[in-house]
Amino acid sequence: MIFKLMALLAIIFLVYLVFFKRNRERDIKKKKDHDVIDNMDACPTCKTFIAKDDAILSNGKYYCSTECLGK
Ligand SMILES: [Zn+2]
Repeated sequence: MIFKLMALLAIIFLVYLVFFKRNRERDIKKKKDHDVIDNMDACPTCKTFIAKDDAILSNGKYYCSTECLGK
């Protein structure tokens, strides 16, 4: 009987570990997605979403290209 109980506890513990790990991975993924969105902005001219790192900053606005900036 005690072995059955120990086996059951071990299974519960393993399931808990797997579940906890999955939750953590999902949280990390969610955070990454959020960071990507934070780093994106719409070009005021053509409304294309562009990464701020690649954009041209002018008057506090992010333009996708010098073409849009000039308009
Ligand atoms: Zn543009």
